[in-house]
Amino acid sequence: MADNVLKGRRILGTSRAPKEYTDERTCAQDGCETRLSRYNRREHCFAHAPTKFPRLRGRVVPES
Ligand SMILES: [Zn+2]
Repeated sequence: MADNVLKGRRILGTSRAPKEYTDERTCAQDGCETRLSRYNRREHCFAHAPTKFPRLRGRVVPES
């Protein structure tokens, strides 16, 4: 009987690191310190994202 049938093989070589952006990023808005995920490519947090929401239905949005 063979003894070493299930010899585990160590993974050799460099393990590929996933692409990362900077380690810790915060919202680009002045004074906002909301952290962004390093996998989140946006520069702003959700609250300060430049995207305008299309459904405001006449609500007056105060400009910041
Ligand atoms: Zn923000």
